Amino acid sequence: MEKEYTKKISIVIPAFNEAENLPFLCDEITEVMSPITDEYEIIIINDGSSDKTQETVEKLFNNDSKHIVGINFRSNFGKASAFSAGFIEAQGKIIFTMDADLQDDPKEIPNFLAKVEEGFDLVSGWKKNRKDSFIKNTSSKFFNFVTSQLSRVKLHDFNCGFKAYKAEVAKSLDLYGQLHRYIPVMARNKGYKIGEIPVHHRKRKFGKSKYGPVRFVNGFLDLLTVMMLTKYFKRPAHFFGGIGSVALGFGFIISLYITFLRLFTGSIQNRLPLFIAGILLVMVGVQLISLGLIGEMFANNYKKEDEYSKIKKIIK
Ligand code: UDP
Ligand code: MG
Repeated sequence: MEKEYTKKISIVIPAFNEAENLPFLCDEITEVMSPITDEYEIIIINDGSSDKTQETVEKLFNNDSKHIVGINFRSNFGKASAFSAGFIEAQGKIIFTMDADLQDDPKEIPNFLAKVEEGFDLVSGWKKNRKDSFIKNTSSKFFNFVTSQLSRVKLHDFNCGFKAYKAEVAKSLDLYGQLHRYIPVMARNKGYKIGEIPVHHRKRKFGKSKYGPVRFVNGFLDLLTVMMLTKYFKRPAHFFGGIGSVALGFGFIISLYITFLRLFTGSIQNRLPLFIAGILLVMVGVQLISLGLIGEMFANNYKKEDEYSKIKKIIK
């Protein structure tokens, strides 16, 4: 039978205590992939599980060593680290990520491929009809709304585990901590074209969810980190200096006004709070501008070769 797809595909799956789910997931993926291409690999990262995940991965490998790759973490390092390891190991031209818990439906893979072929560098799934608890669904909606407003990346579901990347995009990401939630923001700030497709989402059958709604508490600090590292990485003086200059400007006007009052009316006329605010704004302003300048000294170490990561194609 003629296979429709010629590019190699890698499917990266982080798994933390997902022993019961993995065999079903691999069966489903095999069923979807076999008519598409034989050139695919399923990379399972056992993220320090305490159940039988590792044994399960070994069994799956022994059954189908052509398609299964296993990575074993010594300890639970988190989803971002699992993605990183998977992306380093991936041989495919197109790289997928999927959750191991059967909530993502592998039948969506061809839809992702079609969208990538349309010219998108990263296609993110959108759990339009999400099958999780009410609290989780609501807090996730709020998280997505704020992230979309702040980052101006127009997606409904930033943190969806089901995504397809051109290999270049996945390999360019620098993931650690919980930063996997902001992959679309990072990729967009690197100039990649981001798309979205609605995906079928299923209830978890086996095992427990590893993340509660609490995850969103630190989420916004992470968003600031991402914005800082991607958008302002090379111009910290603009970021800090911008806020600093506004503070300094207001502080200066207030101080001028107070000086004027003192000189021409003989007293500051009970404007003590304003006086203090003026001084504070000047001090904060100067501090922020200095911080920006120190940041510039670090940014100056940025290597010229890194500019190459921005180039799409060189024609010679
Ligand atoms: N996961 C992981 N390391 C962790 C936590 C989660 O590799 O420390 C994996 C987990 O096994 C699953 C995916 O990340 O494949 C998503 O986790 P989960 O289903 O618990 O999140 P939810 O769907 O509830 O957001
Ligand atoms: Mg899940």
